[in-house]
Amino acid sequence: MGEKAKTSEVRSIPLILIEDEPDARETLQDILEASGYAVRSFAGGKEALQIVSHQTGNLILADILLPDLDGLKVLQSVKEMDPDSVVIMMTGNTSLQMAIEAMNKGAYAYILKPINMEELKVLLKKACREIHLSQENKKLVDSLQLSNRDLETINRRLAFLNAEMEDILHIVSHDLRGPLINIQGFSSKLTEQLKDRPSKKITSCVGFIQKGVARMDSLIGGLLRVSRVGRKVEPFLENDLDKLVEEMRAVFAFEMKDRKIQFVKTQKLPRVWCRKDEISQVFSNLIGNAIHYMGAKPKKEIGVGFEEAFDHFKFWVKDTGIGIDKKDQERIFKLFERLEEIPVKGEGLGLALVKKIIQGHDGRVWVESYKGKGSTFFFTLPKRRPVH
Ligand code: ADP
Repeated sequence: MGEKAKTSEVRSIPLILIEDEPDARETLQDILEASGYAVRSFAGGKEALQIVSHQTGNLILADILLPDLDGLKVLQSVKEMDPDSVVIMMTGNTSLQMAIEAMNKGAYAYILKPINMEELKVLLKKACREIHLSQENKKLVDSLQLSNRDLETINRRLAFLNAEMEDILHIVSHDLRGPLINIQGFSSKLTEQLKDRPSKKITSCVGFIQKGVARMDSLIGGLLRVSRVGRKVEPFLENDLDKLVEEMRAVFAFEMKDRKIQFVKTQKLPRVWCRKDEISQVFSNLIGNAIHYMGAKPKKEIGVGFEEAFDHFKFWVKDTGIGIDKKDQERIFKLFERLEEIPVKGEGLGLALVKKIIQGHDGRVWVESYKGKGSTFFFTLPKRRPVH
């Protein structure tokens, strides 16, 4: 089967023979055809070049001294028309220098006259394989380019849909605020009027309206915050994340002391290309959550650290808190998802915001956690200066 495959590989490649001497040409053609080659022979270079111009991956066996065009010119024209062609030069001792020059100009090999047929057959077989490989390679490159183009189209479409979705989110959350302010205003007016004509039932109804409005206002505020990520023209700068985390530590110092939580940072964090306010929000949300979801654990500790990889930094915020069940570890990054295992005020937007910010920095965010044992939130930031 292997032999068969090889023969079909040889047969599938036609051979162009250029030799001006009729006897030599005929003999070579007969022997090569008997070996399975589809030979087209020519007495001169010009005629042969017309064939070359119509196909690619040509296998050419050419005499270096031809009456119309010398072998070097044939080689040059062939390579211009078909760079994937394989050209073997036939040369006598007198034209050896030319053959060496041809090798420098892209000939595959040269063979000395009188030709040793066994040597020529080995050479041609190798040349066939070379053509076959380069054609396969070309096919692969073509299909890769096609896939790349598909991927580019999909990416453009995704970016467009993303931008469209963000616009909708922004407009909706922004425009919902107007009617809400109206409801807020009129319900305050109602409360005032109720002072003259007190009614327990109406007061309680108005109370519900006001609570509902306040909740909706806070949800819309959250949505607006999420929709604004990446919209602001905050520049990417090389920011000192150690300083940034120290600032965050100061912000939470009172709360941590109050809850007897230890803050541990044993490494100096690096400087990283990022949008400072957004990465501040990331640390603020993660450290804030670590404090709020600590629960009543005897050892209360929050650790911040990092690891350096080849092209990115991996940061973490680790806590010894209540932990998160495996099945919930993905969904907590979605909008409005909360587990409500311990009473903590929130809207379920913090981690969605973190995810959006990190993705906007070409990074990744995830959590590793064991229920009851604590959680570690990881995120990565590329080292390179972004092209945003
Ligand atoms: P919020 O804290 O406002 O509810 P988040 O998006 O920040 O919203 O978090 C989503 C949910 O993920 C939280 O409600 C909580 O159940 C869970 N969670 C987040 N951080 C932690 C943590 N460090 N430990 C345990 N649970 C957490």
